[in-house]
Amino acid sequence: MSSRSLVADLERVVNRERVLSSPEDLLCYSYDASPSSSNLPQAVVFPASTQEMSQLLGLCYRLGVPVVPRGAGTGLSGASLPAPGKSVVVCLTGMNRILHVDATNLVTVVEPGVTTGAIHQAVEAQGLFYPPDPSSAGACTIGGNVATGAGGLRALKYGVTRHYVLGLEVVLPDGEVMTTGATTAKNATGYDLTRLMVGSEGTLAVFTRITLHLIPLPLAKKTLLAAFRTPAQAAATVSAIVSHRLLPSTLEFMDGTTLRCVDAHTRTGTPTGAEAVLLIEADGTPDSAAQEAEQLASLCREYGAMEVRVAETPQQAEHLTLARRSVLPALAHAHPQQGLGTQPVLFLEDATVPPSRLVEMVEAVAEIGARFSILAGVMGHAGDGNLHPYFIAGSREEKDISRLEHAVTEMVQTALELGGTVSGEHGIGVSKAAFLPLKISPTEMRVMRFIKDGLDPKGLLNPGKLFPSTRNVATG
Ligand SMILES: Cc1cc2nc3c(=O)[nH]c(=O)nc-3n(C[C@H](O)[C@H](O)[C@H](O)COP(=O)(O)OP(=O)(O)OC[C@H]3O[C@@H](n4cnc5c(N)ncnc54)[C@H](O)[C@@H]3O)c2cc1C
Repeated sequence: MSSRSLVADLERVVNRERVLSSPEDLLCYSYDASPSSSNLPQAVVFPASTQEMSQLLGLCYRLGVPVVPRGAGTGLSGASLPAPGKSVVVCLTGMNRILHVDATNLVTVVEPGVTTGAIHQAVEAQGLFYPPDPSSAGACTIGGNVATGAGGLRALKYGVTRHYVLGLEVVLPDGEVMTTGATTAKNATGYDLTRLMVGSEGTLAVFTRITLHLIPLPLAKKTLLAAFRTPAQAAATVSAIVSHRLLPSTLEFMDGTTLRCVDAHTRTGTPTGAEAVLLIEADGTPDSAAQEAEQLASLCREYGAMEVRVAETPQQAEHLTLARRSVLPALAHAHPQQGLGTQPVLFLEDATVPPSRLVEMVEAVAEIGARFSILAGVMGHAGDGNLHPYFIAGSREEKDISRLEHAVTEMVQTALELGGTVSGEHGIGVSKAAFLPLKISPTEMRVMRFIKDGLDPKGLLNPGKLFPSTRNVATG
């Protein structure tokens, strides 16, 4: 079918100003925050309601047109990229209402296109807390968070998105609407289809309504930053914190390479000579947060911190978190060979290892980077082992991309050898699909494939994600 007749059909379902089809408009929806290459969709549609979403999917199902769900496009694994050939992107950012916040039953019901940051603000205004806190919270959507199983900075103490999703309203690939879960915190009624949907990366259904569990907002928070002369000292401190049964809400790690990239981009005033930093936050009542912060500071000193800064005011706390918040913009501007006029490429990963293997992972990443002559570093959520190893090459030339790909492959293999996993929070998408069989057994892959085929027999929902060359991966 021609693009023009597809667009005309789509415009019969949603208002024509919510259908984009000019090449310039389509280009904006052909990429996400990953460096993965992509294709132009045939059209981008912005549904405004579950009913429209259902009609859109029903239409595409009848026509055999692939559909790619999309939130804000901040994904780091290419999971919302349009499929090769014909496809329609359904962008959920127009369905962005917080439908209600129920302080008595500790739930909120939201549409999928609302940003995570807007949910934080709305519930915190009522003394409630939605803990999952991806660094992209100001931009990413809750639908994208549910679809990727997003984590964030507070996961060590509070868990990740999947721990807070109580129920969903979803539209299945053929347009049928289904609700899963309940609005109660406890629910043992049949298969847990809600959990099945979390992390499904837009391949099983499109979420149109999300019910989230809330908890009371901690009354106080203390922020501290500890600088170390070696990553090994910082990593040993992380293990000590965990083994002393302390549970900070945030326990973030940045290595020396990351600190130098950040300092070149933003003046954060990191202590000179630091080769690793831990950003730590303790929360609770004013007394318990202060007491825990004191214990954390003294543990850091005991394990060799060259300097520990404890924020006494919200402004000081804001300043201490600046380096961590500046990491991704800083890495996006970092160049392994300063002064070279080429466009550098950043591969940012999220392989995760048990926290006790942190040092080995940090050392392995540095060694791999040196061997492939590319800039390499590690930062991330040290408390739960969810690291962000990254590699930066100086250009997009084939030889540089090939070096990056080899480095990432070795890094993932190392993480698996250390007892870790391929992705801690960004999901598989297209960029990590080749690694899936390294972690997932053929039996598990067969069951995943069975679920996908059962819910989406025509293979139209977000094709090429999770299972890129599907059958090959499953048997390979
Ligand atoms: C600066 C920066 C910092 C980041 N920090 C973190 C972090 O700390 N933790 C973390 O986990 N991630 C982080 N990310 C990655 C990213 O923000 C998350 O993966 C986020 O969940 C993606 O949300 P999105 O709305 O942008 O989704 P998109 O990128 O648009 O889509 C992601 C996936 O969700 C699917 N999807 C989107 N909406 C729906 C829906 N309504 N129904 C079904 N499927 C849907 C898409 O098909 C795709 O598979 C970061 C990214 C950036 C750029």
